[in-house]
This record gives sequence, structure tokens and C-alpha cells, in this order.
Amino acid sequence: MQSIKSENNTSRPSILLIYTGGTIGMKRDEESGALVPFDFSGIYEEFPSIKRLHVDIDVHTMPKLIDSSNVQPSDWCAIAEVLQQNYERYDGFVILHGTDTMSYTASALSFMLENLAKPVVFTGSQIPIGVMRTDGRENLITAIEVASARDGERPMVPEVSLLFHSRLLRGNRTHKGSAEELDAFCSPNYPSLAEVGVKIAYNRSAIATPSDSSTPLRIATMLSEGVAIIKLFPGIGEYTLRAILSVEGLRGVVLETYGAGNAPTSDWFLKLMRETVERGVIVMNVTQCQNGSVEMALYETGQRLQAAGVLSAYDMTTEAAITKLMYVLGKNLSGEETLSLLRTPLRGEFTM
Ligand code: ASP
Repeated sequence: MQSIKSENNTSRPSILLIYTGGTIGMKRDEESGALVPFDFSGIYEEFPSIKRLHVDIDVHTMPKLIDSSNVQPSDWCAIAEVLQQNYERYDGFVILHGTDTMSYTASALSFMLENLAKPVVFTGSQIPIGVMRTDGRENLITAIEVASARDGERPMVPEVSLLFHSRLLRGNRTHKGSAEELDAFCSPNYPSLAEVGVKIAYNRSAIATPSDSSTPLRIATMLSEGVAIIKLFPGIGEYTLRAILSVEGLRGVVLETYGAGNAPTSDWFLKLMRETVERGVIVMNVTQCQNGSVEMALYETGQRLQAAGVLSAYDMTTEAAITKLMYVLGKNLSGEETLSLLRTPLRGEFTM
């Protein structure tokens, strides 16, 4: 653990910076020209101004730095364990993560961290931190400010959030919407937790009320395998869909449907959905639209799906739906308890 001590010695918040990899900590490899991760301890030389923040920062570098396209649920568990081991010692946490799958990791962690009462802020960058025009510097500094911000006696943002460009978003509401723009993340169905301008303007009514801080943080590291995402398209064939849905060990599916949660009404399709649900596989209906909610009662095409036993995911992102499935199924509860957790917003991941 590397410590970066603030120059100001009055009572300061303490932040743990957890570095997992991604563009924010990358440099160009001289030989191949490819971007490769570097040891994050070098970041301090890049940004000596961090010293001037009114915060004490320790850095924890994950043993294996990864491009986030390689992230696995085991990596989420490793991050959760670092958070748990250090939970009492720090006021807030900043996680530096590749942008490609940051919304999946932020969603997963939002569920896995039970009784969270402190800020966990994800950030990264589109341009490597070693490059002059990097967006990483601002993202990093603002994330540290957010993680250490207080609202009287309590942390300002006691939930899993994602800071990128000029907005702080609820982690499990985010989606990486642009491969090129610096404003890369959106929160299609939930307002920003803060807007970052000259000041950081917090939207208090959108921020979660903290869990009881006297209840210890619990981490759920049993995440179910056997889940899949299926995106419908006109022409999807029975043979293909049946093959996917009959995979051994399948326990849950996120079905990306059209519009307000609509799907074909052909006999084979509805029969297959019914058979799948009757086998005990959970099917969650998420819309392919950029924003808006599933409303299965609206059209016959949605009603038939509902009658087949498909669950509405309301306005959840695909990232939140698939990670919630992993988390809830990982608890190995009864069918009724599983359905009840899936139908309840656990961390503000959907609005009914
Ligand atoms: N491929 C990188 C990653 O997700 C992209 C980034 O960090 O922006 O790790």
C-alpha cells in the first residue's frame, strides 16, 4: 500500500484508491505501440497536485492489472474483499477501472456490497493518464473529492457511483454510451447524483439514504454462473434460441426485447418462453431502447410474454439486470424468495 499524504495536517478524510487497470493507468509500449498497464505508483509523479488535496490517500494496486474487457466475476469478488478488509479504516473509496466494462463492475459491486454506508466511486478515462490531453486527471481528482465529501455528519454519496467527465451517476444505472467522446457514460433512466462544473452540485434528492453505519459491511461473493443475455432481432430462429435456452445449467436470462418490452407472438416463441420458465429458468425483460421502461401490459406482444412467466426488469440497464441475476441467484434461495428480490429495487437499480 502506497501512502500519499496531504500537505495540510488538519483533520482530513482518508481515501483508499484501488487501481484495477484500464486506460487511466496506461502508457504506450515502445516496441509494440500498444497501450499497456503501468504500475500505478507512477501516478503520483504524474500529478503532484494530488498532494494539495485536503485528503489522505492510500493506493492499493490489484495484483493483476487488466484491460477491463478481461474482467471476471472473480475480479469483482477480489475488489469486494479489498473493500471489506479496509472498510473501517477509510472514509471513502475510489476505484480506477477500465471504461469498457465499468458499468458491469459498478452494477455488480452495488449488489455485492450489503449495508454499504460509505462512498465507493468508480472512475477511469478515455485518454491514458500519461497523455497530455488526458481526461483522467480531472476524473481522478473529482472522484477523490466526491469520495471524501460530507453532508454534515454523513458521507455525501454513501453508495456505489460512477464519476465521468462532468457527471456523477448511480453506478447501477450507467451504460458506456460512447467509444470516443470524453462524456462516455450515460444514466438513461435516473438523474445525475451530481453535476460537475465550477462547483460539484449534488442532487441530494437523487442520492441514496445511507445504510445504518452501525451494521457492518457484508460482501456477497457467491455469484451465480449459468446466466445469459439474449437480444431479440427480427428473424431470430427457433433452432438458435432453443439451443441457447436448453444449455445445461442455465438459471437466468436477460431478454432484450423491443420498445416497451415487446416480443414476437409466434406460437413457437411463446411456447419456448413458457417451457423455459416452467423449467425454473428466470427470464427478465429489458428493453433494447436507449431509455424508457418495460411495460408489458401495454401491448398484446408484451402481455403474452408476461403470461408466459417473463419478469419485467422495468427501466433497468442490461448491465444491472445481468449482475443482479448473478447476485440473487448466487444466494440459492427458494423460487419465491428469488422472485421477490428480483421484483424489488435493492439498490435503486430500477423505478417501477
Ligand atoms: N479497454 C480499456 C479498458 O476497458 C478502455 C478504457 O479503459 O477506457 O480497460
